[in-house]
Amino acid sequence: MAWSSRGPEAFHLVSKGDEVEIVASDPRGLVIGIYDLLDRLGARWPLPGEQFEVLPTRPRIGVWVDVWGEPRFRMREFFGTGGAGSGTPLDKRGDFSRAWTDYMRRNRWGGPDHIRGHTGEAFADAHRAALEAHPDWRAELKGQRVPWSRSLKLCASSTGALEAFQRDRADSLGRQLLVDPTTFAISVEPADGGGHCDCARCRALGGVSDRVFTMANQVARHINATHPGRWVSLLAYNEHAEVPSISLEPNVFVMVVPYGFNRTGLDPDELIAAWKSKVRRLGVYDYWAIPDWAHDVPSIAVGPMLERLDSWAARGIEAFLIESSFSGAATGPALWQASRRFLSAGRPSVDDLHEWVTLVFGTCSQEIEPLFKEWGEVYIPSSAGLGRAYSALGQALDGCGRSSVERSRLLWLARYVEYLRLRFEVDALAKAAPDRAERTRELARWLLAIAPDLSVASYRLVQLLLKSEGADAPLAKELDLARLSRSSLPGISEQESIDRVRTGQRRYAAVDLPKASFRGRWVHPPASGQATRERSATARVMLLGGMTDLNVRAQTSTSISIALGAYASAPLRVLVYDEAGRLQIERRIEGPGASAELELRADHTYRIKVVDPKNSFRLRVPVGVAVGLTQFVSPAPTDALYFWVPPGTRRVVMDVPSLVPSRVLDSNGAVVLDNVRGLVDVPVPESQSGKVWCVSGYKSWAPIRAISVPQAFALGRDDLLVPEEALKVAKSPIRRGSR
Ligand SMILES: [Zn+2]
Repeated sequence: MAWSSRGPEAFHLVSKGDEVEIVASDPRGLVIGIYDLLDRLGARWPLPGEQFEVLPTRPRIGVWVDVWGEPRFRMREFFGTGGAGSGTPLDKRGDFSRAWTDYMRRNRWGGPDHIRGHTGEAFADAHRAALEAHPDWRAELKGQRVPWSRSLKLCASSTGALEAFQRDRADSLGRQLLVDPTTFAISVEPADGGGHCDCARCRALGGVSDRVFTMANQVARHINATHPGRWVSLLAYNEHAEVPSISLEPNVFVMVVPYGFNRTGLDPDELIAAWKSKVRRLGVYDYWAIPDWAHDVPSIAVGPMLERLDSWAARGIEAFLIESSFSGAATGPALWQASRRFLSAGRPSVDDLHEWVTLVFGTCSQEIEPLFKEWGEVYIPSSAGLGRAYSALGQALDGCGRSSVERSRLLWLARYVEYLRLRFEVDALAKAAPDRAERTRELARWLLAIAPDLSVASYRLVQLLLKSEGADAPLAKELDLARLSRSSLPGISEQESIDRVRTGQRRYAAVDLPKASFRGRWVHPPASGQATRERSATARVMLLGGMTDLNVRAQTSTSISIALGAYASAPLRVLVYDEAGRLQIERRIEGPGASAELELRADHTYRIKVVDPKNSFRLRVPVGVAVGLTQFVSPAPTDALYFWVPPGTRRVVMDVPSLVPSRVLDSNGAVVLDNVRGLVDVPVPESQSGKVWCVSGYKSWAPIRAISVPQAFALGRDDLLVPEEALKVAKSPIRRGSR
């Protein structure tokens, strides 16, 4: 195949006698080819930093090879929110960001196309005088032109504003091309946040997407004239995530943001599909555990994320940008596994997590692998989870880790687990706890001390911690982030790291997490043996929100109703599927108080999916309709949420991330656990298994997660539906599914 039909990253590796030739038509292809050859020779960079480099010693570096290669996406990027902390007093020389940049290049992150983010803020700064002199350039909100601000939006129907904007963008592209002649696009993304112009002329253009993309089109036409072959890029995001009704210029590059801030009423896959049919080339912007939300505790469900990546490739998405965290320990394993998927075809199929753990921890990997496996599936901050981590580290330090390299890597992990412990203990404290300030101070100082490990985004996490404590807190003054220096950071000796593992082992017991999964048809559990049988004469109503998924089964033909909350700002979509997974009903519910009645036939099981962009809605379930909610959150404390404890279950384990304290009640209505905010782990007496239990008071935008019992909840005790497998006595419920 000719070079011209391949991208700039294509390369050809071919053995010639004792040598290997790396042939490429572009320097970028040469770099990818070099790292491809090094990969074949066993070189690996599983984490940033020289201490993690794996360079095998080989007598000869010859390999027999004759392959063409090219990475899977034209844009493969991630970045950590808040940066790597370089340029800050903590890393004046930029060592941290250099380590991350090296790591990315060696693992093939990057690609020939690069898109920049929001640009409206810079435009507002650069053109402040003109914007102040021309009120009509600025967005009008409720009849008033907004004053100048960095987050200002332009009036999409102001000729003056559009001319200034297109000139600014063309000039900026010209400057970028001088620095990097391969620059592919110039960003026209407005400033972050809402506040788009709603003057009469803009409203006539259509919805917010129509206005934003009208401006993008205008700049695109101008760029096509000044810089033929170049593109304008912008996000399909937040208020302008929706596919516009106008057609787009061929040189408009769109990065859709489907997994966050999506208020279009379409679920992520549907939004991607809608955009894919609109534009020739499409990218995706995603969030993987950014520090501001996840605080660098392990929180990436790795399997589903990698499936996402594969699904993008399968749909012909050629670019992606992941907003994540520069955290070797929290996001590192997922990012590394993602990067293994960029490799060209023909790579042997391997367990990438196993390889990563083996590369990092060598002969200690057997002890450590279950830990990262658990963290990549479900991590719930808990004393039992800390116990498992300390126990794994303790065993590894006892049994292996004799080589100094392995030992230092185990202690790297030990310092991260110590961070998890400090974070867990501070989070468990009440806001007014007397020792809160002291414990927060300890956490902040630990974060700074482990900064050179690159295991967490230290600087960002400390910033967030100080923000949450308030600007006037003594801690902010004491740490004085702006004047901090690396030499002032406390060092951590090897002995201290080891001592902390031993202390952790003594303090926290390693308790197994009894994970179980249940499949089969949705059925009613037997009601026999229940202490009380309640039958409400009226329908049950529940306030729900977010993406909601439930299974329902009606005894007689009836209907259930879904009503939008009073302050709903975006439409709600309801999809009803039959037992074979065929779509039966699709409804769009829009406007305050709007509702839909969904007809159900007798003795049929349906799956109902509510796509709710963080509004809230009321679900009304008549008597005689059984429900198994599998995904839901609740914006208000729930009265009672019933769940099934399968026969033979010895412990009820679930994650209840409620914002207000909840309670767990057994089948007799007796409180078995009070003040629940997080992991629930309670023993089940023989007489209480094979019964319906209940959680009361749950309120959160984070979903409740069942671990040892079925992920199925109902509003009424007699209304519960569960997967058929959950009715059988588990042979060994403690062990089922674990490890
Ligand atoms: Zn306007």
